[in-house]
Amino acid sequence: MTVDEPLTWIGTSWKMNGSLAFARAYATGLRARAAAGWPGIQPFLIPPATALAVVSEVLRPASGIIVGAQNAHWEQRGAWTGELSVEQVADAGATLVEIGHSERRAWFGDTDEVVHRKVLATLRAGLRPLVCVGESAEDFAAGRSVEVVTAQVSSALAGVAPGEGQAPLVAYEPIWAIGEHGREATPEDIVATVGAIADHVGDRVGSVLYGGSVNRENLTDILGVPGVGGVFVGRAAWTLTGYLALLDLAADQLAGRLNVG
Ligand code: PEP
Repeated sequence: MTVDEPLTWIGTSWKMNGSLAFARAYATGLRARAAAGWPGIQPFLIPPATALAVVSEVLRPASGIIVGAQNAHWEQRGAWTGELSVEQVADAGATLVEIGHSERRAWFGDTDEVVHRKVLATLRAGLRPLVCVGESAEDFAAGRSVEVVTAQVSSALAGVAPGEGQAPLVAYEPIWAIGEHGREATPEDIVATVGAIADHVGDRVGSVLYGGSVNRENLTDILGVPGVGGVFVGRAAWTLTGYLALLDLAADQLAGRLNVG
């Protein structure tokens, strides 16, 4: 691999799952395997906020695994009951902030404007935003995927110039493909939209990831889609064994590609 080869991002959010004991055990097991590493792969782990400090303490400093928060407020402090600021999640060890997941957009008022504020706050604090975008089943069926997600990306990254802080990541997560009721996407379903996002963001973004029912069976195909720079995984990585399997598979795929090339 050359030094210029971009990293393939393989990460998971546990959403609202996991006790502190689970978090400690998962992170400890991951750290043990990280010692050998996954060449070319950048793992990231997004536990619930309650487990951020524990996971960060177990994984830091040398594991190379990035720890992220599932959300953070755009203000630094104040009367925002129940919220956490970017500074607070950074204090607990996060260097990445997930912003605009479709569940946040649907249930917690994360409009495009709110997503944009959170992106700016995250960059200002020196953390990396992971911006989630995705269209509904109706928009997909109507052929509006590109229109919807490029509008979401434009709004999220408005005013963000290349080289301003840590380059944001964009995760394309079609709503129809995520979660237990999601339908697995085929490469044909997503290739045009991923390509449109990549063209749209240019060098303002570090990488475009794909998320939505990614698992051991479809990982190789998804990572083979032009423009996909990694995957953002839910259920398939909610066990350590599941996550390790994905990391190993991706590393093998990358090694094969580089050897062939
Ligand atoms: C998600 O909800 O963002 C997600 C990718 O979940 P899953 O992999 O379980 O579809």
